[in-house]
Amino acid sequence: MTKDDDTLPRRGQVKEITSLANPVIKDIKALSQKKHREGTGHFMAEGFKLVLDALDTGWHIDTLIYAKAAKSKPLVEKAAARAFAAGGLILEVSEKVLSSITRRDNPQSVVGIFQARWRPLSDIRPKPGETWVALDRVRDPGNLGTIIRTADAAGASGVILIGETTDPFALETVRATMGSVFAVPLARASSADFLKWQRNAGTAVVATHLKGAVDYREPDYRARPVVLLMGNEQAGLPDDLADAADIRVRIPQQGRADSLNLAVATGIMLFEARRHLLELGGR
Ligand code: SAM
Repeated sequence: MTKDDDTLPRRGQVKEITSLANPVIKDIKALSQKKHREGTGHFMAEGFKLVLDALDTGWHIDTLIYAKAAKSKPLVEKAAARAFAAGGLILEVSEKVLSSITRRDNPQSVVGIFQARWRPLSDIRPKPGETWVALDRVRDPGNLGTIIRTADAAGASGVILIGETTDPFALETVRATMGSVFAVPLARASSADFLKWQRNAGTAVVATHLKGAVDYREPDYRARPVVLLMGNEQAGLPDDLADAADIRVRIPQQGRADSLNLAVATGIMLFEARRHLLELGGR
């Protein structure tokens, strides 16, 4: 172990850092900005389970950071050994540094910095039984994280982000996914590219719309692979996306609410579209 806040750490060694002014810590903290995440291709995830699951499923870890106070916990040792074997940088830090990285008073003992992954839209060729979620300009990190988690739980094949959206690799979104960010393939596309892709993808695009004429329980979700198209939180779906869909459905409502929360509506759609594929013994 090296204990020196001024020298740059090398891979293949554990480096102890206690100073918030250390340049490595400054770089890690900069991952809270989208610009820096996109520039480096890196993002942060917290917690033993998340980090170990990510390593188990082949995600590339760049850096593992753990709290000095937790260093002898078997799970920390396991995470550090796995990250070490994968060529990651290992940092042992004070609680103060960990709090500052994660912006939490009681941070998790382990944080991993991973390489973000995007699936090119052109590589997505949905197969029978698959369900994809397409989100138009989703803005709220909590909604996006919840949708990724719900898509995972429902057995969906991935989430396509259309237009300017919130970043799935922001810490707040990653937290809300509860680890599902490592399990659900993500793609992004402009609205024009999505429309082009949809013409040749062989899917049934089911748009959800407050003016949809069809009850969401009516379509035959078995006939073709399904893309559930969901609208922006404020504006809903724009006409070009809604009109190009195969069908526009609505979830009937009672009461005074104008609409459902986007993540709730996506959850209802996912479990209806995949109802024939989900059973209690399936897990
Ligand atoms: N003011 C927006 C509008 O007029 O569409 C409300 C958008 S709503 C909060 C966000 C998205 O959730 C909608 O675009 C739609 O995809 C979905 N959604 C919410 N309630 C729905 C419902 N009752 N039926 C179908 N989709 C719904």
